[in-house]
Amino acid sequence: MTVIEIVLGDITREHVDVIVTAANESLLGGGGVDGAIHRAAGPRLAQAGGTVGPCEPGDALATPAFDLDPPVQHVIHTVGPIWEGGDHGEAEVLASCYRRSLQLADELGARTIAFPMIATGVYGYPPDQAAGIAVATIKSTPTGLQQVRLVAFDEESHRHLRAAMAAVS
Ligand code: ADP
Repeated sequence: MTVIEIVLGDITREHVDVIVTAANESLLGGGGVDGAIHRAAGPRLAQAGGTVGPCEPGDALATPAFDLDPPVQHVIHTVGPIWEGGDHGEAEVLASCYRRSLQLADELGARTIAFPMIATGVYGYPPDQAAGIAVATIKSTPTGLQQVRLVAFDEESHRHLRAAMAAVS
């Protein structure tokens, strides 16, 4: 059974096998959570991203985690939708980010994974809706993972994730 945990904090401090980053298509590194993960993993992460990328919105690609502390072994780079009002397939792209990342983590043999709230920063996805999609997609995706951690970086995101979990429990 997969346990979903909602936590508040900095995803680069998570003790998991896989950390997911909210990347841009180039996988060369960006701002926000992606910037924090690239700083923690060191410059080889951008080199590896450039080799495996680019990545389509809704898809996910894996690289080693380089200088991130053990037990983190891989970074999964996924590209969220840029919010354009909600009528441009944003929800399906966002769900696909979570689904593809979970599938890839399974292929890597991971047991634990941490996600940020993909697309809710610079990409502008409303955090209440994004939280609902994150929780619903993780719940409905078959996976061998033991633990999926959803990491909020601020109190408001944390509240939305807890509300989304309460709504499906
Ligand atoms: P996107 O471009 O997909 O919107 P952002 O990095 O701008 O990605 O934001 C995605 C989410 O990650 C936001 O909720 C933001 O507050 C959060 N975030 C930023 N830094 C961190 C971090 N170090 N750990 C966890 N979440 C973070």
